[in-house]
Amino acid sequence: MTTSIAFIGLGNMGGGMAANLVKHGHAVRAFDLSEEALARAEAAGATCAASAAEAVAGADAVVTMLPAGKHVEAVYTGEVFGAAKPGALFLDCSTIDIATARRVIAAAADRGFEMVDAPVSGGIAAANGGTLTFMVGGGQAAFARAEPILSAMGKAVIHAGGAGNGQAAKICNNMLLGATMVATCEAFAMARKIGLDPQTFYDISSVSSGQSWSMTSYCPLPGVGPQSPADNDYQGGFAAALMLKDLKLALEAAASVDASVPMGAAAESLYQMLVNSGEGGRDFSALIRLLG
Ligand code: NAD
Repeated sequence: MTTSIAFIGLGNMGGGMAANLVKHGHAVRAFDLSEEALARAEAAGATCAASAAEAVAGADAVVTMLPAGKHVEAVYTGEVFGAAKPGALFLDCSTIDIATARRVIAAAADRGFEMVDAPVSGGIAAANGGTLTFMVGGGQAAFARAEPILSAMGKAVIHAGGAGNGQAAKICNNMLLGATMVATCEAFAMARKIGLDPQTFYDISSVSSGQSWSMTSYCPLPGVGPQSPADNDYQGGFAAALMLKDLKLALEAAASVDASVPMGAAAESLYQMLVNSGEGGRDFSALIRLLG
């Protein structure tokens, strides 16, 4: 069944996601502040709108993929709530702070709309390829409505619980990823300094208890392990600046519930140093350059 979907925020991630909705037969009406992003969406088969309100009018569902909580809140409260047809479903796929996600979902419910937070795991390649993983927060009924739309853009759609729990899953996962990458970088850097061949260390550790995704799927040393951004001068992949964003969200959430996250805090300060050194655009595994 063709669903009419408004898509707001067609940047690095949203562009590919909207294109996959089109490929699955949905009628997509796109809006972005950037003319360039809109032109790409049009080339992928979406119809362009002159404002968020125009994109949303008459749509069955609204998908947003925006930079941060302030953009999400402004777009929903400023335009989407007023322009959406009764019964429209809202899906925010941006990575934002849990408090804003819960506030916007509650405000949508006050106006009679169902909404989910549905942040993603997977980068630009997964957005383009339709292989994202969605972590979804919201009520059971909203999740059931969101699932077929999200499935057109991803390989896995997982219900994480009530409103905001998608964001909670995302930042807990990325805090873990940040910490394992830091640990992997420092172990490789130290092994090298001690005089242990990095490939030999990989061969041992990748089948021993120090193994992790950061080591065996995304090794931070060029020429060791499978192909990774390290083999391409740390270009592409997951930008260090985005890892820093997620770690800051994780620390904010930790403070709000009095959780102790010393490893997350250490990772945040190291990624801050990496970004401050001008390397924020490089893949997050480039941290190894800071350590070794
Ligand atoms: P991006 O900056 O490339 O895209 C964001 C888009 O939103 C831009 O095109 C911008 O013009 C548009 N925008 C901003 N304010 C707007 C408004 N008021 N109305 C309409 N459009 C507006 O960012 P991205 O890399 O696509 O990331 C989007 C979200 O996905 C972020 O929350 C990010 O943390 C998350 N994310 C990104 C990645 C990644 O690898 N890039 C991976 C997972 C999650």
